[in-house]
Amino acid sequence: MQAPVLVLNEQTQRDTGRRAQLTNIAAAKAVSEIIRTTLGPRAMLKMILDASGGIVLTNDGNAILREIDVNHPAAKSIIELSKTQDEEVGDGTTSVSVLAGELLSLSEQFLERNIHPTVVVNGFFRALNDAVAIAEELSMQIDVNKPGELDKVVASCVGTKYVSRYGDLMVKIAIDAVNTVKVEDGDRITADFKNYAKVEKIPGGDLNESKVLSGVMFNKDVVSGTMRRRIENPRIILLDTPVQYQKGESQTNIELTKGEDFQRLMELEEEYVQKICEDILKFNPDVVISEKGISDLALHFFSKKNVSCIRRLRKTDNNRVARACGATIVSRTDELKESDVGTGAGLFEVSKIGDEYFTYVVDCKDAKACSIVLRGGSKDVLNEVERNLQDAMCVARNVVKKPTLVCGGGAIEMAISHALMEKSKSIEGVVQQPYQAVAQALEVIPRTLVENCGASVVRVMTALRAKHANGENTTFGVDGMKGEVVDMRTLGLFEPLEVKTQTIKTSVEAAAMLLRIDDVVSGITRKQDPASGPVQHDDDD
Ligand code: ADP
Ligand code: MG
Repeated sequence: MQAPVLVLNEQTQRDTGRRAQLTNIAAAKAVSEIIRTTLGPRAMLKMILDASGGIVLTNDGNAILREIDVNHPAAKSIIELSKTQDEEVGDGTTSVSVLAGELLSLSEQFLERNIHPTVVVNGFFRALNDAVAIAEELSMQIDVNKPGELDKVVASCVGTKYVSRYGDLMVKIAIDAVNTVKVEDGDRITADFKNYAKVEKIPGGDLNESKVLSGVMFNKDVVSGTMRRRIENPRIILLDTPVQYQKGESQTNIELTKGEDFQRLMELEEEYVQKICEDILKFNPDVVISEKGISDLALHFFSKKNVSCIRRLRKTDNNRVARACGATIVSRTDELKESDVGTGAGLFEVSKIGDEYFTYVVDCKDAKACSIVLRGGSKDVLNEVERNLQDAMCVARNVVKKPTLVCGGGAIEMAISHALMEKSKSIEGVVQQPYQAVAQALEVIPRTLVENCGASVVRVMTALRAKHANGENTTFGVDGMKGEVVDMRTLGLFEPLEVKTQTIKTSVEAAAMLLRIDDVVSGITRKQDPASGPVQHDDDD
C-alpha cells in the first residue's frame, strides 16, 4: 500500500510552533478541568449522555473520559492517559488527568518566555526520576495477612466512590474476590480478577445483598426442563467440542444413489454421537457442559442416565467453571480422564431470578474463580457500583502483589513536592524552572481535594505547606471530608505505592509528549467529512 500523501492546501488545517503547543495545552487543560471535581471523597458525579442515547452516571475519571466525545487530538491523548492508567493499575485515573493538566498549564509560562520545549522536557524527566525515588523512600511495607491491614487500603480507594456508603461491604467483596482468584507461584502472586472474578449485575433487591459466591454463576438453564436442576456434590465434565455429528464444510456434497445409503448415513451419525456419549458417560457425570451444541440424540442418551446438560456456554464462563470446580476443559472425548472431571463443587443448582434462569456451581472447596453478584436499584447504579468495585479489586490486587504503601490525601504529593523543591536548589541553569514546575504541579492533588470539599483553599494549603516546610511530617495531608490538615496515619488513609508512582509517571510523560509537538496537521478536509470536521480549537479562532 502507498503511504497517504498529505496535501497542504487551504482546506488542510495546520498549526505550527508555539501556536500548536498552546492550543494543545488549552485542550488538555479543558479536559482535566472537566474531571477535577470528581477527585476525592467529596467528589461530584457526572452525568454523561453517550452516543447511543444512554446515560452514564459516574465519578470514575476513566469512565467519564471514555464517554465524552472530543475532537482535539491533544484532548484525546489526555483521555488515552487515563485509559492507560486504568489498565496498568486500575486506580488514580482522575489524578492522572488532573496532574497532567496542571503540569501543562504551568508550562505555558516557559513557552511564553521562549524556553525551548526540549529543555522543559529535560527538566520534567529529571524531576520525575527524583520524584519516583522519593516516593519509594517514603513508602512503607505492610503485612497483607494481618487482619484489617488490606481492608484499610481498599477502604480508602472505595471511600472516594459512589458506593462509599456501603464501603465495608464493597471492601469485603473486593478482598474476597481477589483472595479467591489469587494464585501463588513461588514469589510471584497473580490475581487475574478480570478473567476469573466476574461481576453479575442483577437489578432489583438491595445493594446489601451483594456477595461473592464460593463458586460461579452464569445466565443459562439446563437444556431440557426434565433434567435435574439441583444436584449435590456433582461430577462435572466440561467440553469445548460439540456433542453432535460433525457435518462437513458448507461446500461438501454427498451424493446418495440408493435409499439404503441414506439409512446408512443416519446410522453412522447415530453411532458417532453414541460413541461420544459413551466416552463421556463412562465417567458417571452428573452435569455435562459444552461450549458448543449438544444434539437431540445426545440429549436423549444423557437424559436416560439422568445427566443434566448445558450447551453453548461462553468460553470465558466455561473457564471460570473449570477453575471453580477443578475440572479440565476437554476437547476430545476419547481422551477424557478421571482427573478431568470436576468434583470440587458442593452444589449445582439452577434457579430463577426475575424472568431469567441462572446456573450456580457453588460451595466449591477450593475455588480459584468466583462470581460476584451485585444487586441494586437500577442498572445505572449497578454499572457505577461495578466500576467502583473494579477499582477496589485493582487496589486489593496491587497491594497483595506488592504490599508497599504511601500516605494518601495529598500527603505523598506534598512530601514529594517539598523534597523536589529542596533538590532543585542545587540544579543550575534554565532546567531548574521546569523541574520546579513538577514540584509545584503536585500540589494540585491536595488543593483539589480541599476545593472539592468546600474548605478554604488558601488557609488549608498554607497550613499544609507549613507542616511540610521542614521536610518532616511527611504523612500530613488533607482530610477530604472535613477539609482539615491531618496526619494520614491517624486517618488510616493509605494507597499503593505503585498507583502513585504510575500516576506521576504517566502524567509527566504525557505532558512532556504534548510539549514536544510543534506541528499539528490535519489531513481531514472540510469537504470530505463535514460532521467530524477538521481539528477544532476550543480557545481561539
Ligand atoms: P482517582 O480516580 O484518581 O483514584 P479518586 O476520586 O479515587 O480519584 O481520588 C483519589 C484521591 O483522593 C487520592 O489522592 C486519595 O489519597 C484521596 N483521598 C481518598 N480518600 C480521601 C479522604 N478521605 N480524605 C482525603 N483524601 C482522600
Ligand atoms: Mg480512586
